[in-house]
Amino acid sequence: MGESISRVFVPSVTEEDGNTLGLGCFSTEEVAWQVLRTFLNKSEQMLLTKCSVVVWDIDIVGEEAMTVLSSMECKDCPVCSRRTFWIDTDNFSALCHGTACSAWIEENNVDPEIIDCGWPTIRFLKQNKSIDEAVEALFKLGDKLKSAGEKRMAKENAEKLIGENNAEE
Ligand SMILES: [Zn+2]
Repeated sequence: MGESISRVFVPSVTEEDGNTLGLGCFSTEEVAWQVLRTFLNKSEQMLLTKCSVVVWDIDIVGEEAMTVLSSMECKDCPVCSRRTFWIDTDNFSALCHGTACSAWIEENNVDPEIIDCGWPTIRFLKQNKSIDEAVEALFKLGDKLKSAGEKRMAKENAEKLIGENNAEE
């Protein structure tokens, strides 16, 4: 009996139209996460809204068999504007999976009161007092990049992005 599997780990993603894609079912959490992370690298080619890793206990009837281990939401990235910014709302962290972006937000591992954010491309790093402030810092960075590229459109784009972001809350 030692070899038998008693629970499985199931990663899945949800598309904008509500369609959910199961990515397989795995005997370890590690493999489930690897499969999910690999898939998230494709997220700039799709419009995804959510993802999760769920544990299912085998041979148990009903809802109790299922535990949501972790779930993330996908938003437009404050820096690159693509729908590739994955936010883990339970652990207060976020990462952009867009090519060559990797903008991120994370709780400071020394002082949990501080929220760090950064953009590796220019080694941007900032400490913030709240998640909102961290998101705002990344938006400002995104605005700067856009205004550097196309001066006239920059403000309009930024306002639209911020407006959309607030509307979804
Ligand atoms: Zn990005």
